[in-house]
Amino acid sequence: ATEAESRDLVIIGGGVAGYVAAIKAGQEGMKVTCIEKRGTLGGTCLNVGCIPSKSLLNNSHLYHQILHDSKHRGIEVGDVKLNLEQLMKAKDQSVSGLTKGVEFLLKKNGVEYIKGAGSFQDEHTVKVQLNDGGETSVTGKNILIATGSEVTPFPGLQIDEKTVISSTGAIALEKVPKKMTVIGGGIIGLEMASVWSRLGSEVTVVEFLDQIGGPGMDTEIAKSIQKILKKQGIKFKTGTKVLGGEQSGEGVKVNVDSAKGGKEETFDADVVLVAIGRRPYTEGLGLENIGLELDERGRVIIDSEYRTKIPHIRCVGDATFGPMLAHKAEEEAVAAVEYIKKGYGHVNYGCIPSVMYTFPEVAWVGQSEQDLKKAGIKYRIGTFPFSANSRAKTNLDTEGMVKMLADPETDRLLGVHIIGPNAGEMIAEGTLALEYGASSEDIARTCHAHPTLAEAFKEAAMATYSKAIHY
Ligand code: FAD
Ligand code: NAD
Repeated sequence: ATEAESRDLVIIGGGVAGYVAAIKAGQEGMKVTCIEKRGTLGGTCLNVGCIPSKSLLNNSHLYHQILHDSKHRGIEVGDVKLNLEQLMKAKDQSVSGLTKGVEFLLKKNGVEYIKGAGSFQDEHTVKVQLNDGGETSVTGKNILIATGSEVTPFPGLQIDEKTVISSTGAIALEKVPKKMTVIGGGIIGLEMASVWSRLGSEVTVVEFLDQIGGPGMDTEIAKSIQKILKKQGIKFKTGTKVLGGEQSGEGVKVNVDSAKGGKEETFDADVVLVAIGRRPYTEGLGLENIGLELDERGRVIIDSEYRTKIPHIRCVGDATFGPMLAHKAEEEAVAAVEYIKKGYGHVNYGCIPSVMYTFPEVAWVGQSEQDLKKAGIKYRIGTFPFSANSRAKTNLDTEGMVKMLADPETDRLLGVHIIGPNAGEMIAEGTLALEYGASSEDIARTCHAHPTLAEAFKEAAMATYSKAIHY
């Protein structure tokens, strides 16, 4: 390619990180190319992650609620049947609508979209193996690595997406397994355990740590959601290490041991879900051709402006440091483009919300009690249970609570942790408050509409420095 053909920005990967950077750069008037090998845009999140899993969570919840939680509300239903094929079709429809929408947005913002696998030829040139056959190459003044992540395999178990599955298999099973064992009680494990348990599977979650929920969940909240999920029928084996497994045509045997050493046990299951985390994906990217290094966990090493040691090559999203979350990838994508275009950008890593879309949902932002204890920071706690909230009582959905942590001297908000039916929406208020450096009194003195679940948020804030009115 000649210099005249050179782009302002070449992006490798069209996931959330890549496509958001492409749109932003297009909006900034840059000449942009986005290379994606999947055949559709949106990456893990839209194709096999956030979106399909939430479709299944939403519809399996409806099914379960109609079956088990409707009679006492005065709704009598007749013959309720699961049509798994249609459930999967509804999911596929949401996915294709959104991925096509992203393709439209790239077009609208003048982004060139190349379907193929990109790899570095040199510091400015990316060679593309086109999906339709053949090869091309593009040059860029700036290059953004946005190649995302892949599932971490479990040693000794071969993922075939039929009997030993990853999250990708778990969103596409053709029948409801009689018994399912989930290795890893993090977010993927618990969301997928919820889906299949609601649809009729007998699910056991095996978690190495004493606490479920993955990294970052407040311990009190984790214990509380575990009790709720247990009541829904999910079995838990915490403090338990999976040693290995044996696959056969019949199913899988999983051998476990107490994490502290002890008696070995074996679980039989039709399907085993491996959900022990994800790892950065940089395979075939040709990083060796430009001398870029990865850290010990396979992450692309960057500075605070997302630059690798070759300053015009940057990296954002799951392929580098930080929580593997779509909204984190999106924030970084915008900031990276702003650094290129304007020389400044901003992501507040202390203020990235997390949501687990079980029922009820679990959501948090800021620091947990264990974080604060570890850092030696003093805090005050305010809690408010949904059992004392009028809207939750009206809805007959009273499980969960809002828990707020604030600085005892300045009253500044330090963290918010919620278990509740719409915790994932409510956490946006906590995130905004934290971002603006609010005190808990600022929140408590903000008028909240009645009757709403958000009143529990206000009352928990009140409880940090004074007393809640309704509890
Ligand atoms: P990805 O989405 O992985 O995108 C990277 C893209 O790059 C891929 O499409 C890949 O094909 C492409 N690519 C890689 N190498 C090349 C190459 N050499 N050439 C061309 N293309 C290449 N996060 C949330 O915030 N909320 C959720 O509810 C949520 N749910 C999830 C559920 C599941 C089951 C999973 C697995 C993940 C979930 N996540 C969720 C995490 C979220 O999907 C990721 O954090 C997000 O997708 C990261 O975006 P990314 O663009 O960095 O990477
Ligand atoms: P995770 O890191 O959240 O949880 C993995 C869990 O597996 C941990 O609790 C870990 O202790 C446990 N584990 C590891 N090895 C084990 C073993 N040998 N035996 C038993 N337990 C073991 O990872 P995940 O749930 O696979 O999710 C991957 C990524 O995807 C995460 O970064 C997550 O944030 C993201 N994700 C987010 C959402 C969401 O935001 N709602 C949904 C799904 C996935």
